[in-house]
Amino acid sequence: MAEYELVELPYNYDALETAISRKVMEWHHDVHHQGYVNGANKAEERLKEQRENDDYSDTGAILTNFTHNFSGNVLHERFWKNMSPNGGGKPEGELMQKIEEDFGSYENWKKEFKAAASSASGWALLVYIPREDELHNVAVDKHDEHAVWGAHPVLALDVWEHSYYHDYGPERGDFIDSFFDVVDWDEAGERFLKVSDLEI
Ligand code: MN
Repeated sequence: MAEYELVELPYNYDALETAISRKVMEWHHDVHHQGYVNGANKAEERLKEQRENDDYSDTGAILTNFTHNFSGNVLHERFWKNMSPNGGGKPEGELMQKIEEDFGSYENWKKEFKAAASSASGWALLVYIPREDELHNVAVDKHDEHAVWGAHPVLALDVWEHSYYHDYGPERGDFIDSFFDVVDWDEAGERFLKVSDLEI
């Protein structure tokens, strides 16, 4: 049985204050993200119990819980990692080349990603789809609704209200703009190189 652990932030709680306050970072990482880790572990425990008791009467609800919490854990890890106090700017190297190839230009990609972040009830993601050798933007509701099979997140932006409302109120667009000041394009570029090596 897999056991999940909360990843450490790769910077201090106040390191991204130009975009995310210390308070929101504490709540978001220590309470919300921890909650998804706990939820995924709980779901795994209940699946194990089912097998031991040969009682599959609640499987649907447990698996829904598993998918929600597991996906929440994966996406939050990506979100923390693809930000940095030394972030901002534009992607470089192979990631930039691929963005230009697949979206026409970085500006096109950014407009589409920002629109995804404005409309999603969950996440805006830049994903790489190995089977098509293609980058794509995806707007995910919650952590898993409208997700794409076989796609690997390269860049994740959490637009749940817990991610920005305390700092920005209803001005989600201002939060999205601030996110671009802290995007760690070096990290996202390394992530792209890793997932673009995958066969499936
Ligand atoms: Mn979140």
